[in-house]
Amino acid sequence: MTYTSTAIGYPYIGEDREWKKTLEAFWRNELSEEDILKTLKDIRIARMDKQLSLGLDIITVGDFTYYDRMLDTAVMFGLVPKRFDWQGGKVDLQTYYGVARGNNNAVASEMTKWFNTNYHYIVPEYEGQALQLTENKILADFLEAKEVFGITAKPTIIGPYTFCKLTKGYDKISQVTFILALLPLYAQVIQELVDAGAQWIQLEEPSLVTTLDEAEVKLVQEIYTQLTAAVPKAKIMLQTYFESLSAYEALTALPVQGIGLDFVHGYDKNMEALRQFGFPQDKVLAAGVINGRDIWRANLAEVSTTVKAIEQLSGAKEIWIQSSCSLQHVPITTALETKLDPVLKNALAFADEKLVEISEITKYVQEKNHATNKTISESMKAIEALKKHPVRNNKAIQNAVQSVVPEDFERQKDFKSRQTIQQEALQLPLFPTTTIGSFPQSDEVKRTRSAWRKKQLSDEVYATFVEEETKRWIGIQEELDIDVLVHGEFERTDMVEYFGEKLTGFAFTEKAWVVSYGSRGVKPPIIYGDVAWETPMTVKETAYAQNLTNRYVKGMLTGPVTILNWSFVRDDLSRKDVTYQIALALRKEVEALEAAGIAIIQVDEPALREGLPLRKENWGEYLDWTVKAFKLSTASVKDETQIHTHMCYCEFNDFIEPISALDADVISIETSRSHGELISSLQNNPYEKGIGLGVYDIHSPRVPSEEEMLTIMQDSLQVLTKNQFWVNPDCGLKTRKEPETVAALAHMVAAAKTLRQQV
Ligand code: GLN
Ligand code: ZN
Repeated sequence: MTYTSTAIGYPYIGEDREWKKTLEAFWRNELSEEDILKTLKDIRIARMDKQLSLGLDIITVGDFTYYDRMLDTAVMFGLVPKRFDWQGGKVDLQTYYGVARGNNNAVASEMTKWFNTNYHYIVPEYEGQALQLTENKILADFLEAKEVFGITAKPTIIGPYTFCKLTKGYDKISQVTFILALLPLYAQVIQELVDAGAQWIQLEEPSLVTTLDEAEVKLVQEIYTQLTAAVPKAKIMLQTYFESLSAYEALTALPVQGIGLDFVHGYDKNMEALRQFGFPQDKVLAAGVINGRDIWRANLAEVSTTVKAIEQLSGAKEIWIQSSCSLQHVPITTALETKLDPVLKNALAFADEKLVEISEITKYVQEKNHATNKTISESMKAIEALKKHPVRNNKAIQNAVQSVVPEDFERQKDFKSRQTIQQEALQLPLFPTTTIGSFPQSDEVKRTRSAWRKKQLSDEVYATFVEEETKRWIGIQEELDIDVLVHGEFERTDMVEYFGEKLTGFAFTEKAWVVSYGSRGVKPPIIYGDVAWETPMTVKETAYAQNLTNRYVKGMLTGPVTILNWSFVRDDLSRKDVTYQIALALRKEVEALEAAGIAIIQVDEPALREGLPLRKENWGEYLDWTVKAFKLSTASVKDETQIHTHMCYCEFNDFIEPISALDADVISIETSRSHGELISSLQNNPYEKGIGLGVYDIHSPRVPSEEEMLTIMQDSLQVLTKNQFWVNPDCGLKTRKEPETVAALAHMVAAAKTLRQQV
């Protein structure tokens, strides 16, 4: 029996975000092309060195990128959108970053979520162009590892099925042309690796864990039959992650030499499949047993039991022990954190600590008497200590979650009755105008906040500054004649951190960055204890703004599901229970706002949709508790109090029902970019509650004309009644500059006024 330790992939952002800084310096023209290549090479080598020193048997190459790995794969095959006017041959850095970020002549390619993670990749565009192998960068990385460290690394490539599936621009007919053109290029990349001495080659196929119909399974079979026939000498590890493998029996029979399965997120179903169908005896089984998505130290005793069970059920002769997916989704190392509660810190494992776990577990199952016995008991002690931590033992909150009853989720009256009551109480005009919450976070706002955080400014000076900025913007909104105002969110850095710092149970790191897209990183908070409301979080700022004006000022909160989905979450409680704790805390805040005289309260849920499970059959369960959590946070208000919510992008088609189930009186959503789609989905599924359609895109500095916005509104009125219709931008305005914001809002208000005349 052979055990091998490896990882599917490792973060590239750099301990001190040096990768990000290098890219951005190049974009600002502060680095020459030669410099960026040299610095990136240094980063790449340092991270290989690190992985080797942490004891992995096989390390992976090809998981490093200059921006995004889907984009790398696309340009490797010459899939550069025509608008970039690329002439063939090696794709230069200017073109590469052009596709990623847009340039003066052409807009960037679209970006979208990588499966159910918070990472976003560049969507490849197929426009019927002739495909070609522009450069085998994976081979270059493989040779680099050989030259620098004398090792035979495992090259990784995004597999052909997943790559095709995520490329846009073809229909069923051209899909075949596309795949037929693509496969020989994949074969060439793989053959060159084999010729250079590569042993195992990892093909990442996360699409194989989504729901696959019969035709799709057939397509996968054809792809792999053709591809492997073209490269008979290659040893291919077909790597899946994020869920259990679909069509297990058919797909484990593919003509590859190894199959990688996720035994964390797909544990139940993959184990069940092993039990039921066994495992092909001629293949290596790569077992993802260390969670690549969370930040918690693993219970190594449990993991070794899992490995033993996998070994027994599969009868595999060789098992790879690895993370459940690439470690790119977790920060690099806990060693850099100096301020965390030691009990918490000791129970954390980021990428480096996870690599140590992988190598220790491998040694442990290999030879039972290894010194890792100690590591195993240490992991259990660390987990036990966190479990006993007072922050995890707030009985009052735990009981409150257990005592939730069905009535707690429901408003007193139904929507129709509330609508009449609210209209009477609020007396808003037809097509009320409003914004989503934030106003521009100018350099001055950011500078002042950061000085205050560094204790260079007193609390009073900072509070006065925030008040002045709020007052100025209340004035601007009145001047613009907006109907429902906002305070502007000048006191907030971020939608989750602001609340997390005021609730119990949250911890914040110093360096725990993960890439969200391109060079952009996020530093998610850690929910490690029971979440409880201690003091009002938003009442002071909101009430201050309300007292400045006779118009209504909306209270502004981040919803429970968004707080959950944008944090690293404790794993000793169900996600549902954690979300209910957050919801109960927000419920208190909602009540405090109402008691302070705030008549309209918005609870944002931009991340509700992104938490949807990968398989549609699991959506119902997720939507059940997430919708309930939202209702729990909002339902206790009086009928007169108007509850709003906001979601950014919303593929509306399959989502109208859950949105309606939130029972929010008004929802504001993005529409300006997906306008036609929204109209047609509303045609088929009438929506009855208040709805604010984003009439302009806030992601661009462009100021759309009044006519442009008016057209969107008029079209929307074909599928919505005039009494439910609100007018607002697509999302918050914090990233915009003041002049364009004021100009665009002026057009928006004018368009609403014109529309009132027309109906
Ligand atoms: N209220 C938030 C804002 O305006 C909402 C942001 C979001 O949806 N992402 O900034
Ligand atoms: Zn938004």
